[in-house]
Amino acid sequence: MKSTIDNYKEIRNSIPESVNLVIVSKTHPSEAIKELYDVGHRAFGENKSQEILIKQQELPLDIEWHFIGHLQRNKVRQIVPFVHLIHGVDSLRLLKEINKQSIRFEKKTNCLLQFFIADEETKFGFELDEVREILQSDEFKEMQNIQICGVMGMATYTEDVEQIKAEFVNLKNIFDNLKSEFFAGDDKFKEISMGMTNDYGIAVEQGSTIVRIGSAIFGDRDYSK
Ligand SMILES: *Cc1c(COP(=O)(O)O)cnc(C)c1O
Repeated sequence: MKSTIDNYKEIRNSIPESVNLVIVSKTHPSEAIKELYDVGHRAFGENKSQEILIKQQELPLDIEWHFIGHLQRNKVRQIVPFVHLIHGVDSLRLLKEINKQSIRFEKKTNCLLQFFIADEETKFGFELDEVREILQSDEFKEMQNIQICGVMGMATYTEDVEQIKAEFVNLKNIFDNLKSEFFAGDDKFKEISMGMTNDYGIAVEQGSTIVRIGSAIFGDRDYSK
């Protein structure tokens, strides 16, 4: 059987150096993260606030923590002090709370706007027009402690490569539209977080700058533990 480290190296070598790899460590223990840390990896993604808090306390301080799940507003205060990037911002109310807590901690928090691109009912995210409205609002313009770094999306879980491709093309177009309309002069608006174990190859071809990969590195997750 191949080790986690072998899987990691294989994936790291199979995607362009310019694409960031966030290793999704949800459900896996801190020791598993430490192994990858010890070979030099720093960016890890978690989707539960409870779990990220525990791991953040157990592990080295220079880990870049990515929050990739649906973030509840009452958890923002605990996450903001250390988080590197919040991938799943999907409402104005959440943005406001992140801004408020970031003011408290005197920091600027990096956020990605999550878009609904899949053909599935269960996934969270904005539609483009909603985001346009938010970005034009005075309320948003007054949020000094938020840095919008780009967009995030999840494709439909399907074998249909053409469908996945079309969904990623859609997210890339959304990114390009927002960039030219609202962020043309903002160098920090540059990220397109798309691609997981089953579809990262397609995502990279369509312009992903951050892939979020778990199972291909650690093996299948066991949620019963
Ligand atoms: C779990 C998860 C991933 C990683 O999924 P894999 O299929 O294990 O690579 C990526 N992104 C999000 C938002 C996730 O919740």
